[in-house]
Amino acid sequence: MRLSENFTLEELLASQVAERSGGDMLQEQTNPNRNIIKNLTYLTHQTLQPLRTLLRTSITVSSSYRCPALNTAIGGSAKSQHMEGKAADIGISSELLHRPSRLHVRTVIEEKVRMETGQGIRQEVNASYYLFATACFYLEELNVDQLIHEYGKDGSPAWVHISSSPDQRNRRQILIKRKGEGYTELGLSQALLLGCR
Ligand SMILES: [Zn+2]
Repeated sequence: MRLSENFTLEELLASQVAERSGGDMLQEQTNPNRNIIKNLTYLTHQTLQPLRTLLRTSITVSSSYRCPALNTAIGGSAKSQHMEGKAADIGISSELLHRPSRLHVRTVIEEKVRMETGQGIRQEVNASYYLFATACFYLEELNVDQLIHEYGKDGSPAWVHISSSPDQRNRRQILIKRKGEGYTELGLSQALLLGCR
């Protein structure tokens, strides 16, 4: 089922762990209730699709909805927003860094980062840093609850966690989660500086 121009419900439900497990877990994971579908639709319309439109580059969803059995199987937090269909772990195609047709999008982000921090983006950051930086600038417009730079290296997140909820106040929080550490909240400049010289 198509939720927006570039996102389908199926990609927000997909899970290799559930597929490998099969049985009840796969059944539960692929048949969420109406409230979950409502939340996933909200996340798509408020956050994922507008971010995709800003970046003009495909966004890959590595994990969005997680049924309770899946969440337990992967050791997710007991109150994970993924279980309510309010969060997605996303990345972006490296086309953003290499395609001449995306040069304009990159340049806009680079200029905004320079205006905010006074510094340039390091050459070796990954494409997901550009995704993260863009979400940092548009927390209000994308109606973000939490935006998290997850694992990887500073300025090259392994993935970006983003959430938005229709039934609670969205907090506009930017956080980083590094291996072996807890979650640390960051201000806008601090967050952008993760990928700067
Ligand atoms: Zn996540």
